[in-house]
Amino acid sequence: MTTIYPRVPTVLPPAHLPVVRLNSVTLHYMESCVGCGNCAPWCPYYYVDEEFAPVEKAELVRQILRRRYTAAGILAGRVVGARMPRTEEELWELLRSAYRCADCGFCYIACMYGIDSGAMMMALRQMLYEAGVAPTIMKVLARFERDGLYKGHPAVKSAWEAFLKEAEAPVGRRGARVLLAVTLMDITLTRDAVLNTIKVLKRVGEDFTLPEVPFGVRPPFGAIAGDVKAQRDTIKDLVAYAESLSPRLAVFIDGGYVYPQFRFEATNILRRPLGFQVLHVIELFAEYVREGRLRLKPLGIRVAWHDPCHLARRGGVIEEPREVLRKFTDYRDLPGHGERSWCCSGGAGIIFLSEEFYRRVSQLLGTDITAGVSPRESAFLRETEEALRRAMLKKVKDVRKSGVQMLVTACPACIETLRAGLKFHKVDVGVEHISNLVAKALE
Ligand code: SF4
Ligand code: SF4
Repeated sequence: MTTIYPRVPTVLPPAHLPVVRLNSVTLHYMESCVGCGNCAPWCPYYYVDEEFAPVEKAELVRQILRRRYTAAGILAGRVVGARMPRTEEELWELLRSAYRCADCGFCYIACMYGIDSGAMMMALRQMLYEAGVAPTIMKVLARFERDGLYKGHPAVKSAWEAFLKEAEAPVGRRGARVLLAVTLMDITLTRDAVLNTIKVLKRVGEDFTLPEVPFGVRPPFGAIAGDVKAQRDTIKDLVAYAESLSPRLAVFIDGGYVYPQFRFEATNILRRPLGFQVLHVIELFAEYVREGRLRLKPLGIRVAWHDPCHLARRGGVIEEPREVLRKFTDYRDLPGHGERSWCCSGGAGIIFLSEEFYRRVSQLLGTDITAGVSPRESAFLRETEEALRRAMLKKVKDVRKSGVQMLVTACPACIETLRAGLKFHKVDVGVEHISNLVAKALE
């Protein structure tokens, strides 16, 4: 190992890019790829352009790592596939590839060597973010969350107060069994699902509380933006707050990256176990069904569960939603489901990369975040939106084949992406958060 990766001084001029540190996992991802291409057909962005096959995108990161960490790369550069970007133009090119990955993890399970190209693309986002190259919305929201600005922001405060008034639920109560960790994104994008979750908790007589202020924006936003400090600080802050209330369970309505970040990553970041258990709301509902606390009347509707990648493939929550849905719907699986579910393609923040979302966030914050957007970023946003529409084709075909009337899922990004995508591709199938359907079926 030491002969391959000696600590020789770099021959490059001062690096343009703060390169991520090499560890045993990154080293494996860098060294073990045999270029077989097995990962490609499972990547939604491969369908946009073969240039975006996982192996091709991860190679961009490998080139940087080789240039920075290998003697051969430092001495021979491009001859041995080592390359460091040198211009802002090249950094933007890399950004394009970084946002042609939803971090869905399908390439990871398809690779016989367990190479996680999605993780490589997240590492690329981190390097680019450090270099100052990131979409404006990512920078704004990661910092807004990291610095806790959402806690006192007037517009957020009044949105939160209006939500609490409607929710009519306990707030900031110490010792409640469940902390329903409602975020700002939850009350903005899936407010009906939050209110319906509360309705279910009340019906089963759960001992629960809401937080006093939103449980972050969509925490930790830094994880998808590439802002490692924001990711770490947000996790520390929110875990400390949750622990101050001493719940047994912290329950999330969001089945996107929020779930694995708190369930798995938080303990890595804090280097200790959390003082509470993390569950997604569907796991809690499944627990109620098993205990006979949740009785549901049949709705006579044909539905399929869309597995959010971070809840299912990366989080392992696959059986629980099916267990609940089979109780009160005509349930069937999509052709691609569970661990092998097709990604909606809008994960890892890609759905937020549109002028429409920039406007929505501007409205929420009362600040025009589009003001600082360069023509280059505008072009990037348009191109990303267009790529997303094409990337979701696999999922759309899957939904068409299934013959269901409704897709049920649990991630606000999936819901936004699927609603927009199915409408765009003229597929008449509704998309609902599981909490909305469960609340409708309450006996
Ligand atoms: S499947 Fe694995 S080994 Fe094959 S090209 Fe993809 S990352 Fe490399
Ligand atoms: S994680 Fe998903 S989107 Fe990203 S490269 Fe792999 S298959 Fe493609």
